[in-house]
Amino acid sequence: MLTDRSYDYWFWFIFECAECIFIPAVLPVWRGAAGGHGWGWAQCVRWESGEERSSQGLECPLWCVLCRGGRDRLKQACQRGRGALRLPADMLSLKLPQLFDIHQVPQVFREDNIMSGYRHPRSSALDCILSSFHMTNETMNIWTHFLPTWYFLWRFSMLCFTVDFMSESYTWPLLVYMLLVCLYPFTSSCAHTFSTMSPEACHICYFFDYGALSLYSLGCAITYGFYGMPDCWVNSRLHQYFVPIAVGNTLFCTSMSCYSRFVEAQFPQKSKVLRTSAFIVPFLFDSLPLYYRLLSCCWGSCSPSEALASHSYHLIFAFLTCFLFASHLPERLAPGHFDYIGHSHQLFHVCAVVGTYFQMEAVLADMTSRKEWLMLHSALPSFMGTLGMFTLGVLLNLAVIGAFSASLLRTPHQSTSASGAARAQQALPVDKED
Ligand SMILES: [Zn+2]
Repeated sequence: MLTDRSYDYWFWFIFECAECIFIPAVLPVWRGAAGGHGWGWAQCVRWESGEERSSQGLECPLWCVLCRGGRDRLKQACQRGRGALRLPADMLSLKLPQLFDIHQVPQVFREDNIMSGYRHPRSSALDCILSSFHMTNETMNIWTHFLPTWYFLWRFSMLCFTVDFMSESYTWPLLVYMLLVCLYPFTSSCAHTFSTMSPEACHICYFFDYGALSLYSLGCAITYGFYGMPDCWVNSRLHQYFVPIAVGNTLFCTSMSCYSRFVEAQFPQKSKVLRTSAFIVPFLFDSLPLYYRLLSCCWGSCSPSEALASHSYHLIFAFLTCFLFASHLPERLAPGHFDYIGHSHQLFHVCAVVGTYFQMEAVLADMTSRKEWLMLHSALPSFMGTLGMFTLGVLLNLAVIGAFSASLLRTPHQSTSASGAARAQQALPVDKED
């Protein structure tokens, strides 16, 4: 593994690959049927080993070229590159942040069974952004929510062309839902990116992450309340109070999940139970209409539909998401083996996004297929019942996050970390190779 984590790497890649491209060879080249080798990397194998070898197709993957003597070549190439471009040396030697093992970072940054790949606990904002472009134990967490954000934004923008959000009140629950579907992965991605700026920043970033997830649960309740209610529940007492109860649930969810961070250092198990239940309660409540509709179908009192199929897939992925969040599998079985790719939090992100995709399809199907019936039998969504509740939810969540953040900053010892971080920072090796 390359130990010199610097942008020199990229300059090496550009200069040396340019050499190979002109030969050409780093990129696979077609050697023709007569040669009998097809696409291969033979030139670069010769370049590394210093001897002629016949190509056997894709027998030398790119990592082989990068690892075998690549570091020395990298330094030479960068020297040549600096000379050729007449650029100051420091311009080409911007260092990427170092990575650390679990025992080198303060408690607040540690993840169960993730043994390495930690970023510096006092990273700058720029370091945090740059760290998303090289492998740390957070890189996949960042991208597994950043890319879906753009997908959901794209779907939202497409809906803006086909749905009249401005004047048709029937579409307002969908508007709230789409806003929150875009917000929660984006907030999560930002939280994972900037959480290593300081221990306090870590807590506050995740306060916002929990708040966005909690608001997303409110968005689910608003859409289910208007598009997803079983026919026999429409206009019932539960239907009338469904969204206000969901607003209460977001308060409970955000407060409980933020509070769980305060007790994490002393009581990790209690903290885990509090945080998991904080998210399970709104999920179970929001999904009540779905359970009834799905069970009704199982009993044969309704006909299967496209929406119900998507709701089923969504519930399967939602349960999988909860399971991954609570179980810490697979890294629990092999600590240190899934530090960078494949640990439970990444899988949790992926399952959450896939579940949201199916949920979105189900909501759109319900909204379209039940429009006539709902317009006849139910009141139209009001501004207060949709965008008003959304605004109320945002304000209440911001108040909760503000209160917990103020409490955190007022009592530094409660962050579990200010002194711990300072101690750990002193203990961090200056030039540790990872
Ligand atoms: Zn996350």
